[in-house]
Amino acid sequence: MAVHSSRELFLQIAASMQHYAESLRESGVLGLPQTSPHSLEEKVQAKLETAGKMEPHVAAPVSQLLDATPSRSRRPSAPQLQPTLASPSSIMQAGDLFLTPEVQTVQTLPELRAAIGDCRRCKLCQGRTQIVFGVGDPHAELVFVGEGPGRDEDLKGEPFVGRAGQLLTEIITKGMKIRREEVYICNVVKCRPPDNRNPEPDEIAACEPFLIKQLEIVKPRLIVALGTFAAQTLLRTKTPISRLRGNWHTYQGIKLMPTLHPAYLLRNPADKKLVWQDIQAVLREMGRL
Ligand code: SF4
Repeated sequence: MAVHSSRELFLQIAASMQHYAESLRESGVLGLPQTSPHSLEEKVQAKLETAGKMEPHVAAPVSQLLDATPSRSRRPSAPQLQPTLASPSSIMQAGDLFLTPEVQTVQTLPELRAAIGDCRRCKLCQGRTQIVFGVGDPHAELVFVGEGPGRDEDLKGEPFVGRAGQLLTEIITKGMKIRREEVYICNVVKCRPPDNRNPEPDEIAACEPFLIKQLEIVKPRLIVALGTFAAQTLLRTKTPISRLRGNWHTYQGIKLMPTLHPAYLLRNPADKKLVWQDIQAVLREMGRL
């Protein structure tokens, strides 16, 4: 439904939050922030007013922000992640209202991890061994975002360390000639879905504020979204990965390249050439090709 006014947007956000809170309660989540209806309304209203002062979400101004030949030492700061005005993403980002103040105000990745604590905001907490937060350079120029931890990741506590992870590591180290430690790697959901099933919408909604905060802290210049869930979540779209990949998109002013997930490549090795095309585009953007 199109949004015509701040009041309609407010009502949509309020309905969205009510639905979200109910789904969390049904899944046994405890510990939502203690917020009175009045202060919550004020919080939403403040968000709307802030959004109203912003430019609508537009194509990336990255080319204006970057040097012609990018270098880590001269890399300008990526723009602050901002909510967009009167768009579905404004409503989706209402999810951060459910973050505790400790999470909202953290400045570093260790602080964010500490604030997440022993998170039980969604039902994925029930089957995990541990939360798989993220790994790599906290100021990386390039961030890879995957879907969620698998068995190996759940056991080790590090993203992309199983067979698919080994393939991603080869893409980074052999294909891109970059050390794995130089990039940052994380997932949309931080806990392993049972039997490696796809993460469900309520789980993505519960965990996504952590991803948003991670990206806000790292401030990468480029993002590679690995697979359907990462690309569709970050780009607020239902467009299939087959149509998203191969083209640059924008996430909060940051250039984003969707590509196929390494786990898919293990099953469909013939499509490695498509990923290599996408990675070459990333290398060109980094001034490495
Ligand atoms: S997947 Fe995310 S939101 Fe759900 S329990 Fe794990 S850390 Fe919390």
